[in-house]
Amino acid sequence: MDYRRTYLRDLLASEPGVEVSAYGWVKTRRDSKGIHFVQINDGSCFADLQVVVTEGAIPEAAMRQVTTGACVRFDGKLVASPAAGQAVELAADGLEVYGSADPATYPMQKKGASFEFLREIAHFRARGNTFGAVFRVRNAASDAVHRFFQDRGFLYIHTPIITASDAEGAGAMFAVSPNLTVEDGKYALKVSDPADDFFGKPAFLTVSGQLEAETLALAMTNVYTFGPTFRAENSNSTRHLAEFWMIEPEMAFCDIVGNMNLAEEFLKDVIGTLLDRCAADLEFFNKRIEPDLLATLGHVVESPFERMTYTEAIRLLEASGEPFEFPVFWGADLQSEHERWLTEKKVGRPVILTDYPKQIKAFYMKQNDDGKTVRAMDVLAPRIGEIIGGSQREERLDVLSARIREMGMDPDHYGWYLDLRRFGSAPHAGFGLGFERLLLYVTGMKNIRDVIPYHRAPGQADF
Ligand code: ATP
Ligand code: MN
Repeated sequence: MDYRRTYLRDLLASEPGVEVSAYGWVKTRRDSKGIHFVQINDGSCFADLQVVVTEGAIPEAAMRQVTTGACVRFDGKLVASPAAGQAVELAADGLEVYGSADPATYPMQKKGASFEFLREIAHFRARGNTFGAVFRVRNAASDAVHRFFQDRGFLYIHTPIITASDAEGAGAMFAVSPNLTVEDGKYALKVSDPADDFFGKPAFLTVSGQLEAETLALAMTNVYTFGPTFRAENSNSTRHLAEFWMIEPEMAFCDIVGNMNLAEEFLKDVIGTLLDRCAADLEFFNKRIEPDLLATLGHVVESPFERMTYTEAIRLLEASGEPFEFPVFWGADLQSEHERWLTEKKVGRPVILTDYPKQIKAFYMKQNDDGKTVRAMDVLAPRIGEIIGGSQREERLDVLSARIREMGMDPDHYGWYLDLRRFGSAPHAGFGLGFERLLLYVTGMKNIRDVIPYHRAPGQADF
């Protein structure tokens, strides 16, 4: 048995008349007088292959094992299908059952099982329509991300997963060091001599690769990361995972305008590619998961994003007369109700907001001359709110070190980061995009736990 395989995707696109072998797992089986209809799928495409077995073509004893969930190979001839929605079907005269599945106990039996239940049997859910589609879109999106950057000369870099720099307060961290204690929110080693600890200092799983990516951008110009990221978010949110994948481009000789251009081009390119490459999967999501999906995605690809400052957005929100749950005032962090009003009601397209108050943004963002705002940019999209967060970075040594001190952070922890501004500093900018947030957007799925094969969240580390 060779790995070279004719996928069902290719069989379904073949001309009738050829002898083929079709491998897959049984979705459903229906028997009528003198004839069996079996739907099989191998995960390569949304559509199932219909296998037709006329009585006597295959011994009935073997056919009895063809039940939902069984793994099989049918041999036979592709014939034109009289049924609607498929060009060909397989008239089978040969069968091998690789693994049967007892219908009394196979967990993926029920049609219409809830996503909550399917999370408990995540080791089988990819065999169903919804999760097959999710993971095919996930694959195509990963590929589209790399293609987008590679086509533009960005170098793919790997930033560390274990890190001793406590990043930026981006999120709560998971400790890696076995000798760690926390007192008053400060981490320390339990050992009396740091040399007795594996890393000699408190170490954690990374919450962002940005700071390290900046060092590579200030040597190699345009770079990007696409890797796992960890945050000990103790919330049962539908938008947060403890382990997720983040895409972080970083560009030297680039300001906030170039950064906005990249973010807009990136979203349009990736979504456009998926509309093309995953048409059948996205049609399914449009029909069964999110009725406006194809319309909003098409709209994102076609319309120029609106650009406005945070201050302008606050003015619009204040004048809106909407009864928001959270108050709107200059200096407030925007909530998703505000972001959705702006993108859905006011503008009707994605919006890029810039120049946020410095007190609600990270220390590394470039300060504007007004002394109040920083060169941050968030991309907000209809239906979801913030999808990308980025900024031009502060490249001036004196301004950056003053900001670190002002925020009560320890400059000693950022020696190497400040060094970049000491030697050969350059204007640079970049952004971060949670890959699963992007997948929520393009699939219309509602819970972030349902766009990754095995989710990690509070109380959830199964499989
Ligand atoms: P949020 O306010 O939604 O928690 P954040 O401000 O903490 O996001 P950033 O620190 O800017 O997010 O991280 C960059 C991107 O990573 C976010 O825009 C989002 O897409 C994604 N992200 C952040 N936290 C998580 C998480 N726990 N699970 C999945 N994706 C996340
Ligand atoms: Mn967060």
